[in-house]
Amino acid sequence: MKALVYHKPKDVKVDTIPDPIIKDSRDAIIRVTATAICGSDLHIYNGLIPDKQKFVVGHEFMGIVEETGTDVQNLKRGDRVVVPFPIACGQCYFCQQQELHTHCENSNPEFYGPEGDLTKGKGGGLFGYTSMYGGYDGGQAEYARVPYADFGPRKVPDELTDEQVLFLTDIFPTGYSAIDWANLQGGETVVVFGCGPVGIMAQKSAWLRGAGRVIGVDIQPYRLEKAKQAAGSEVINATEQNVAEVVRSMTEGRGADVCVDAVGMEADRSLLKKVTSTLGGQVGSAKVLEDCFDAVRRGGMVTTTGVYASYHNNFPLGKFFDKGLGLRGGQAPVQRHIDYLMEVVRDGKVKLDDIITHRLPLSEAEHGYKIFNEKEDNCVKVVLKP
Ligand code: NAD
Ligand code: ZN
Ligand code: ZN
Repeated sequence: MKALVYHKPKDVKVDTIPDPIIKDSRDAIIRVTATAICGSDLHIYNGLIPDKQKFVVGHEFMGIVEETGTDVQNLKRGDRVVVPFPIACGQCYFCQQQELHTHCENSNPEFYGPEGDLTKGKGGGLFGYTSMYGGYDGGQAEYARVPYADFGPRKVPDELTDEQVLFLTDIFPTGYSAIDWANLQGGETVVVFGCGPVGIMAQKSAWLRGAGRVIGVDIQPYRLEKAKQAAGSEVINATEQNVAEVVRSMTEGRGADVCVDAVGMEADRSLLKKVTSTLGGQVGSAKVLEDCFDAVRRGGMVTTTGVYASYHNNFPLGKFFDKGLGLRGGQAPVQRHIDYLMEVVRDGKVKLDDIITHRLPLSEAEHGYKIFNEKEDNCVKVVLKP
């Protein structure tokens, strides 16, 4: 089959590789009909999350069931499914008692552990996300092997198109998690840093959960425009204005009730910050998390879906303490929210496909990575069709 294979940083290629096969009785093989490139794939592409092995990239995919293992009773050949990006067994302590599926104790046997450190003790397995996350091949391919297929994949109602539901695999539940972690009650002012795909989904989710005011922040004017159109948010351009000051001026001097970091470690930042983080051995920067601590009100909540991968010096712990903030983040527990969010989409309460700017055949995936990474051609979200 054809698949997008990671070779080394900035080097991904559409290669011909053997088709995946069933390896476990709970596996299914999916013929991929739509798959997307994610900001998280860019961390691999840009070398911040490296791997020595080659692997098929891609954790946002859906398709048609081709074959099932003997223990997969809920699916049959021909079913159309979306596949959550966390690989989770559905039976361990974290899957069952906690509904924290990205911390599954069984899906990443080699590198799983309680530490959560740079080189050891990672979380559960993820599709297409390096050896440290289980070494699974991903879905930017013609076919994918889906482990625990009796637990993860969800059947899609016939009336919904692939593009209407594809983002249930990751970015909609992820944006929704950012808002859910903040425990929105209704009426809050929510500021979302990042108007990429995840940031826009967090903005849509904030409205869904009853926010009173939603403000998107970015440094790319075309992405701010997209946030206005697709999420109906007010926007702030962080290259032109001091975000914390603007947010305070909008909130009687207090700051936002909730700030979401939907940027992560690859944030655009000053040269000084780049040099100090490199000298300190840090991977990327925590700049946007610091911006959230600035723009949030006393006693407010900061949540991050933006990915971080190392220690960070000069982290404003004193500010966190003085302001009495709440902080949550992590890989999103997609399986926990996906059924509710599928209903939300089916009922037309939230539209997901309005952020798609590029539809490309899988054979043009390399080009897709380039324009998404470089923010060329007004690219917000690339969908690949194998
Ligand atoms: P993206 O790269 O398209 O979006 C990031 C946005 O941040 C861009 O629009 C960029 O212009 C903007 N930005 C950069 N520096 C900024 C700054 N200093 N201030 C304000 N905005 C700034 O990526 P995405 O697909 O939207 O993903 C966003 C983050 O979410 C990534 O870190 C990704 O890895 C992560 N993610 C996490 C999960 C999860 O489960 N937690 C799931 C999916 C994605
Ligand atoms: Zn993703
Ligand atoms: Zn589990």
